[in-house]
Formats: sequence, structure tokens, C-alpha cells
Amino acid sequence: MDIRMQDYDIIVIGGGIAGLSAALTAARLDRRVAIFTGGVPGGELLNIERIDGIAGHEDGIAGYDLCPIAQEQAQGAGAELVMDTVDSLAPQGERWKVSAAGSDYSAGAVILATGAHVAKLGVPGEEEFTGRGVSHCATCDGPLLRGKVALVAGGGDSGMQEALTLAQHCERVVIAEKGPALQGQAAYRQAVEAEPKIEVVAGHEVIAIEGADKVEAVLLRDANGGERRIEAAGVFSFAGLEPNGSLAAGIAELAPDGRVAVDASLRTSAKGLFAAGNVRSGNAWRAASAIGDGTTAAASACAYLDSGVWS
Ligand SMILES: Cc1cc2nc3c(=O)[nH]c(=O)nc-3n(C[C@H](O)[C@H](O)[C@H](O)COP(=O)(O)OP(=O)(O)OC[C@H]3O[C@@H](n4cnc5c(N)ncnc54)[C@H](O)[C@@H]3O)c2cc1C
Repeated sequence: MDIRMQDYDIIVIGGGIAGLSAALTAARLDRRVAIFTGGVPGGELLNIERIDGIAGHEDGIAGYDLCPIAQEQAQGAGAELVMDTVDSLAPQGERWKVSAAGSDYSAGAVILATGAHVAKLGVPGEEEFTGRGVSHCATCDGPLLRGKVALVAGGGDSGMQEALTLAQHCERVVIAEKGPALQGQAAYRQAVEAEPKIEVVAGHEVIAIEGADKVEAVLLRDANGGERRIEAAGVFSFAGLEPNGSLAAGIAELAPDGRVAVDASLRTSAKGLFAAGNVRSGNAWRAASAIGDGTTAAASACAYLDSGVWS
């Protein structure tokens, strides 16, 4: 590739909704923008059947509808989509060097929008049965469990949403929640309580996933050490998120929770580096806040490139 072609005003790292929103805004502000998506754009939302809580979408919107629209919008505005994963990020004088798939790219400002991933349960059987009953995507794998039992680990918003999706396919869905009751939004709690196929087992955590060559059962334990074995063909883990902040480690300050620390303009502690969406400290773990973050970070990055001022 021509070296000149690899120079950008702004590079966005991460093709989730925060990154797509950032790329759209920066392109609309006439900047030369590349967005590195690390695969199919859309991030966490891509496989969500119904995204709730976005103003103006009273009945929700499917992630597989929203994300391609946002991608086309960003590209239509002029953003260049690169489906590679960024391997490293480093300041280079007043600019940034971004390396991906054996090529180097340069930008005056970088927006980190790498999101977060579902934390592992860290129990025996989890690694072994990933792809053979252990999943993080109810929309993708729910239809394979038609007429069977699925267990969802984690009774927060994501766990409840995915349990409701699974209930459309499975004979029975069990939500195992470590705390004393379901967590998260009342609307989801009420929907779960009204769904006869869903059973909530509160005060229990998953301690093992069992089977011969695929998932056959899940072992739960309560606070007193009492164990309960539930026969299930699928296990869906939504027991917390961990930020994908490793690219910023050693470059920008991280908050105690491992997310990238930012100010109100979404500037990190490193000149020219911004962070948006789930990866940045203080984000509300919501689609709408990720969209807003992308817009804010891009507008701030453009203002920085115009003025050169970082103070
Ligand atoms: C099951 C579930 C249901 C949800 N439902 C709702 C809902 O109804 N309403 C709502 O408001 N929110 C919901 N959320 C939360 C919402 O999905 C997130 O808040 C939002 O998607 C965060 O967007 P993001 O762009 O910050 O991160 P992500 O969506 O995680 O996107 C980050 C992207 O960056 C990519 N990436 C990471 N590292 C690199 C790299 N080095 N190079 C290139 N790319 C990289 C990742 O692969 C990913 O595609 C839900 C989440 C889950 C898990």
C-alpha cells in the first residue's frame, strides 16, 4: 500500500457502535478517517435481537439492523473501513502510529473505542465446551437449543435479555444469579417474571460445566456450600464485562476498574488520544451512551486537530 495512503487525520480503533458513531461524526466534519473494526463491524450489539432504551425506538431495534445502517452511514460520509485488528498503538512526535496486520498507519488523533468483553466464569468445563454448548450469543445459538434447557449465568440486564431471547426457542431457561435477586432494569425483571419458561435461581453461582463431549449439566453452589446440578444443553455467561483497554496500557492512565480514564471531552491522559464507549471510565454501559461518546470524542478530536491545543 502507498505510504501516503496510510496517513489519516483520525484513526478510530473499534467497530462497535461507539467507533461507528465516532467515524461518522469525524467524516462529516471533513476529516480523513479510518476505522479499524477487527472483523465484522457492530461489536456487542450486532447479535442483539432487541436493543432497548434508545430514545425514539419505542419498540427497540435489532442490532443486526442498527449496526449495518451505522456502518453504511459512516462509509457514506467518507470514513474508510479497515477490518483488521490493531496490534499496537504508539505516540510518534505529534502524531500516532497504529499497526495492524503487518502495516503501519499514522494519524493526528486516535479514538479508542475497543469496548469490553464478557468476563469468563473461570470454572471447569468453560474452555473445554466453548462452541459445544458454552456461548455468549442467544440469537446465534438459541435456535440450536430448540426444545432443550439452557442456563444463563448472571441476572443483570444482559443476562435477562438473553434469557428472554432463549425462551423463544428453549423448553426451559434457568437464570443463575449469584446475588439474592435479579439485578438490572425493572422492565426486564418484570418480563422475566412473566415468562413461564424462565426459572430464576438466585443466590447461586456456577462452579462447573459438565458433559462428555458437549454441555450436559451445570453445577451451582449457594453461599452455604449447598450444591445443585441442573441438566442443560447450553450455558450462556453474562456475569460481568472486562474492558478491552490493553492498547492504552502504559500510554494512558487507566481508572481503578481497568477502563481508560478520560475528562469531559473524552480526552485521555495522552495527548491526541481519546476514548469512547464501554472502554472508557464512566460510560454507562449502554448503546445510547456509546453513540453519544463516539460523537463527543470525534468532535473533541477535530477541535484538537484544528487548534493543536491540549490543556
Ligand atoms: C447481551 C447484551 C445485550 C445488550 N442490550 C442492550 C440494550 O438493550 N440497550 C443498550 O443500551 N445496551 C445494551 N447492551 C450494551 C451495549 O451493547 C454496549 O453498551 C455497546 O454495544 C458498547 O459499544 P462499544 O462500541 O463501546 O463497544 P463494543 O460493542 O464492545 O465494540 C467494540 C468493538 O471493538 C473491537 N475491537 C476491540 N479491540 C480491537 C482492536 N485491537 N482492533 C480493532 N477492533 C477492536 C471489538 O471486536 C468490537 O467489535 C447490551 C449488551 C449485551 C452484551
